[in-house]
Amino acid sequence: METVKQETLLEIDNLNFSFKTQRGLVRAVRDLSITIKKGETLTLVGESGCGKSVTAHAINQLNPMPPGRVDSGRILFNGIDLLQLKKGEIEKMRGTQISMIFQEPMTALNPVFTVGSQIADVFMTHQGMGKDEAMARAVELFHLVKIPAPERRIHAYPHQLSGGMRQRAMIAMALASPEPGLMIADEPTTALDVTIQAQILDLLGDLKQQIDMSILLITHDMGVVAEMADRVVVMYAGRKVEESDVNSIFNDPRHPYTLGLLNSLPSNPKYKQAKRLEAITGTVPDLLTIGDGCPFANRCAYATDICRSSFPSMSEINKDHSVWCHNHESVKREKAQ
Ligand code: SF4
Repeated sequence: METVKQETLLEIDNLNFSFKTQRGLVRAVRDLSITIKKGETLTLVGESGCGKSVTAHAINQLNPMPPGRVDSGRILFNGIDLLQLKKGEIEKMRGTQISMIFQEPMTALNPVFTVGSQIADVFMTHQGMGKDEAMARAVELFHLVKIPAPERRIHAYPHQLSGGMRQRAMIAMALASPEPGLMIADEPTTALDVTIQAQILDLLGDLKQQIDMSILLITHDMGVVAEMADRVVVMYAGRKVEESDVNSIFNDPRHPYTLGLLNSLPSNPKYKQAKRLEAITGTVPDLLTIGDGCPFANRCAYATDICRSSFPSMSEINKDHSVWCHNHESVKREKAQ
């Protein structure tokens, strides 16, 4: 594992984010604090609806406001509070220092322009290049993301490329900034088949080495976490429930939800014996009716009375590993048996 530089690039400090709906206030992210260091890959992991994408979109001010609103907190990027930036300022930040790749590039790429012209547009808008120079840089980026025959492919429209190729084009666009400090990748491989998924993950890993950027990777797939992460934050129902370096999360998971995610991996030895995947029973609770207790209590085999009335405070397992669970010692004991 690469040695991670210690300087903090992004700090989310006690973020609370909610959506006003006709049924009431949905608290999508609660009391969330995370940091990403320069050169580090942090994965945010959890099921749909756990607050991962809302968090990622809050960094770039991409959540619809209203109905979204920041209730409290700060998001510091190189010391600048992104939540305080005006529209033009955050747009400039998105084009120069923070980039984003999405699960389905067709929703992010404009279908009526060639992919090359869309990448060139970023160079022209944010770096003042002329069209010829910008197109030449687009070709260079297509080389970098290993798109075959880049001189020809930059003239393709998004629908003329395969899913994997479109995702590579999206990554090229994300790199079309003078100093790509942070790349936010929101489920970048979920829509791809497994062989293409592996290629895209390899590409992101290679680029991180070459370009010296940090990656915030959002995923529900612990296999992707194992491949990419330096550190892991597990989220559930809008809250952080476990945070660790990648080795500890696989070797010593302490939150029952993390354990459930790991047990549902095909590589899990229990699966190999039983020939069936373990599922986490039940579903994510309705965020409108969630109480003050642990939101995982209705699905948790370790739940006790206190779990239903109070959300646990942080327990430090070691300096790199923390968990929010009343009964994490029971999880440890059971795993040891
Ligand atoms: Fe389960 Fe209680 Fe831990 Fe929540 S706090 S994960 S309900 S044991």
